[in-house]
Amino acid sequence: MRARSLDEALASLDGDGKILAGGQSLVPMLNMRLVRPARLVDINAVPGLDAVRARPDGGLDVGALVRHTDLLTSPLVQARAPLLAAAAAHVGHRAIRNRGTVGGSLAHADPAAELPAALLALDAGVVVAGRAGHRRLPLAELFVGLLTTALAPDEILTGIEIPEARAAGWGFAELARRAGDFAIAGVAAVVRGGPDRCTGARLVAFGADDRPVRLRAAEDAIVGRAPSAELAARAAVEAPRDCRPSSDVHASAEYRAHLVRVLAEDAVRDAVGRLAA
Ligand code: FAD
Repeated sequence: MRARSLDEALASLDGDGKILAGGQSLVPMLNMRLVRPARLVDINAVPGLDAVRARPDGGLDVGALVRHTDLLTSPLVQARAPLLAAAAAHVGHRAIRNRGTVGGSLAHADPAAELPAALLALDAGVVVAGRAGHRRLPLAELFVGLLTTALAPDEILTGIEIPEARAAGWGFAELARRAGDFAIAGVAAVVRGGPDRCTGARLVAFGADDRPVRLRAAEDAIVGRAPSAELAARAAVEAPRDCRPSSDVHASAEYRAHLVRVLAEDAVRDAVGRLAA
């Protein structure tokens, strides 16, 4: 059914209903009979979920139905969260980016997805609607495992809140077998501070665990020190300590851990370079 309001969508989610947003992950899963919902609840006609808005604190509110393409083209995203635009450029192909939504990407919780990692590095939170009202939760609490989130089956993720990040430096690096493929592994980085000292760092690896993970040992190696390419190399050595990559047909766990180190160095070097600029 095509919901015309949030209330209608929430009311339709009782029992075995499933939300349809861009359909770029759900429809392949339906094709392969990996999910068999009794009802699809199409939220594309629910008003108010497809906008990017400036927050008074310098951050951004991003509606759950904002398409990956909109993240790439939005002047607000470019100005206030360029890391998010850079990450969106790596998601699939143009046709997928035209339909896929940021809310769908978060709710699907693929551990190799770019947007969840970029948003975790940006310290974003989500707004979730249920029949009892709205609740907010930090992104770190949304992801609870492989393709699994803290969302209840009858809840709808309505938006993402991104705090101010204009003064921060950022970097994004991934390796995929072909352009448009999911990454074998990647790292998103946000570093705060000035040309003399890094005062904060959020580094997130994706494709390297069952969810996007903070690289806290590498973050600790950055904070309090002067930004430089040498610092990026030293911090990157610590990066694999905080993830538990697995092996599959594309790469071994050892290779993924190696990639996390190399990609962390690239992402941090770019982030501290932008900080010092
Ligand atoms: P849907 O497919 O509609 O839904 C996905 C899941 O989320 C469903 O379980 C649905 O019920 C739930 N859901 C959706 N919206 C909400 C909401 N607002 N609240 C609660 N639950 C919700 N992704 C990447 O990150 N990187 C890639 O490189 C990449 N490559 C791709 C290549 C191909 C060929 C394809 C087909 C997809 C690829 N994707 C990739 C996936 C793409 O990014 C999807 O768009 C995204 O993962 C899901 O967004 P969606 O809007 O299409 O969600």
